[in-house]
Amino acid sequence: MKTKLINLVPGQIEKLLKKRKDVLKKSGERLGIEIGGGIVEHHYPCFMDDSFNVCIIDKNGSDMWKELFEIAGVAFIFGNTKYIMIDSAEVYKESFTLNHLYAVEAHEICHYLFEHHNIIDPVHDKLCEQEADLGAVSILKHMKRPEAVAVIEKRYQSLYENHKDFKLRPDLQKKLDIYIKEEL
Ligand SMILES: [Zn+2]
Repeated sequence: MKTKLINLVPGQIEKLLKKRKDVLKKSGERLGIEIGGGIVEHHYPCFMDDSFNVCIIDKNGSDMWKELFEIAGVAFIFGNTKYIMIDSAEVYKESFTLNHLYAVEAHEICHYLFEHHNIIDPVHDKLCEQEADLGAVSILKHMKRPEAVAVIEKRYQSLYENHKDFKLRPDLQKKLDIYIKEEL
């Protein structure tokens, strides 16, 4: 059985997240494990779904990680694993809030759910991004995180011209519904 943060009372969630965020910021508590020239600064169970793992990566010093984040942006799901990799440079920005973290995690969970494992075609890629954003909005609404929903919706409306009419494919919607029903 998964332990869900959503089962905690709201005050507890904020406290826990603040503590984790503080821990993330303290360089003295960084993990410092090297993988492919990059450094895993922190590793923890995903805030939203602890069956996923989050790795905060310092990409400096590694062409491989630099390239991966250049393609993926702030974060990506590692192949078909439940590992969410996030660029530490983004996490440490003052403007990066816990709501951004929620938004990133929900988006990456959707890539996993929708089996977006091998994105190489740019058209496909944009479609996958839109699907993950839309799925993340559903998850975050269900979790009653309106501020995190707003983070995604802001970018969603500016990125996709068809944002008003776009719907998830029925098979993806079904996967999402099952996930929300069973896991959240
Ligand atoms: Zn994405």
